[in-house]
Amino acid sequence: MSASGSTAQPGAGWDEAQCMAALAQLEQLQAQIDDLRLAIPSIIEPFSQPPNPSTFKLYSQGVIGSQTGIKALNDTWRAPDVQEMLAHTKKSYEANPDLSTSTSVPSHGWIERERRERESRKGNGKHTAVENQGDRLDSEKISRIIAEIQEAQPNVKLEAQNDNRSITAQFVANSMRLSFKVNIERENDTQHKLTAECLGTSEPFLSITRCIASRPNANDLASLLNMVVAYKTVKGTSCAKCGKLLDDTTLIPTARRSRQIIGANDTLETVWEALHEACL
Ligand SMILES: [Zn+2]
Repeated sequence: MSASGSTAQPGAGWDEAQCMAALAQLEQLQAQIDDLRLAIPSIIEPFSQPPNPSTFKLYSQGVIGSQTGIKALNDTWRAPDVQEMLAHTKKSYEANPDLSTSTSVPSHGWIERERRERESRKGNGKHTAVENQGDRLDSEKISRIIAEIQEAQPNVKLEAQNDNRSITAQFVANSMRLSFKVNIERENDTQHKLTAECLGTSEPFLSITRCIASRPNANDLASLLNMVVAYKTVKGTSCAKCGKLLDDTTLIPTARRSRQIIGANDTLETVWEALHEACL
């Protein structure tokens, strides 16, 4: 978080990316502290055997390894961005000591989430730079696309709002209530930018938003709405790539991607599949 973190004032409102980077740092610190639990066992372990020529060597390795671990923890702890995070946390706690909502925040997986988030932001930057596909997306076309998808998927309610500048979708899938919001920013007649989020401040909602953000064909409204609908129609009970329900960060398949297959009459058909964020 060096770049963004160093400019943040402790106590100022942090955005989601800063909070995620801070959680990744805390997880890193926790891992270093956990590793030190082996410090004393590794020092005394050589003495549990009858003395032999390697006893002193093993003892010395245990001591040096433990000292290195303590020094590394000390260095990480004193790093300016970690100190800044701790100061921010203290200030935030003084302002509001109610920590009840933190019980819904997972304690692991932040290092990985932060890495993916950074990568997806890089990807979004690229998409924004090549927004103009020369494909006119006026209000009439937006209404037509919504009507077509709504007709094909009556179980999902798509609602256009704000003069066709945003579309919401809400439904229950796999016993989870999902709410999506798609925003259409029309800069002029030929340029538009589509953004979408799955509402929610915890996993798996955050991961769903990241998976949608890293979609191919970022400017294709029909493809984006079909992707949203696929969260209802494709059960994410196993990943199309690895076949498992949970990935390494214990997340369910939070991505939906389409694939072309050859159908019964030799025609191309689009099928949607569920995938883990890590399996994309
Ligand atoms: Zn997978």
